[in-house]
Amino acid sequence: MCDKHSDDIYSAYRDELIAAGLLIPLGVGGLYGRSGTFEHIVDQFEYLITRRGAYQKPEVMRFPPMFSRTHYEATGHLKNFPDLIGSIHSFEGNERDHRDMMASFEGERGWTSHLVASDMMLVPAACYPLYPTATGTLPQGGRCVDLKTFVFRHEPSPDPARMQIFRQREYVRLGSADEAFAHRNTWLETGKEMLEAVGLDVAAVVANDPFFGRGGKVMKATQVEQVLKYELVVPICSTEKPTAVSSCNYHLDHFGHAFGILTADGQPAHSACIGFGLERITLALLKKHGFRLETWPREVRQVLEMA
Ligand code: ZN
Repeated sequence: MCDKHSDDIYSAYRDELIAAGLLIPLGVGGLYGRSGTFEHIVDQFEYLITRRGAYQKPEVMRFPPMFSRTHYEATGHLKNFPDLIGSIHSFEGNERDHRDMMASFEGERGWTSHLVASDMMLVPAACYPLYPTATGTLPQGGRCVDLKTFVFRHEPSPDPARMQIFRQREYVRLGSADEAFAHRNTWLETGKEMLEAVGLDVAAVVANDPFFGRGGKVMKATQVEQVLKYELVVPICSTEKPTAVSSCNYHLDHFGHAFGILTADGQPAHSACIGFGLERITLALLKKHGFRLETWPREVRQVLEMA
């Protein structure tokens, strides 16, 4: 979104979605309620993910969208993505502090300076809460975990696909380097096939995370050079700048080191994940096939098991 024209493309689609009642604006850029139709598409695509991943016999875990600040600090996220974080603050004062806070309630949000950091952060990626729970030695053959949660990224935008809070569904592999690498590559192919099967024009591209600042440039270059991250991109608002709807990540042994996760033979575990951005996939499907589900192509409705 580098110019006025492209801003218009994004806000035009957002306005259409809102007018159709698919998204319900909540007064902050990138924060929406979702309609029943929107959720139906999310659910049906999720069933597809479940069916395609069943062969792995994954452990299913569901974590809330908040996790421990201490665990957050160990992930390294603060160093790399300070502009995206969401910290949870609460009020811990006495009655007098409360009176002071209420006295500063008018005007420029002065009251928020009376808040203090709680023990929790908002989750920035669905797999982050898993790693601190996996400390110790993995079983032979490692683990495969099915995850889903809302994740937070502080990046208000007119682009309806750039939400500040949205759901990721993930399959995470913890194990040896070979096991993690194979997981990433298998799911890159499977994810691409799944998105093609629902009629989306998908491409796999080598990608980097949005590392912050000047130091981040080196991190981005290294990530691309080592081909650690792929994104599956599809056109939503723009065909020239397709949107990432899924990412396939190989983390090397970053989380194994950070959280003391060891393979059965005592090495720091490697990890990899595929994450499906459920809102973005839904927005891509609505853009491609229209807002009336009953008019979607029959093959697509069949793949999604829509009655
Ligand atoms: Zn992940």
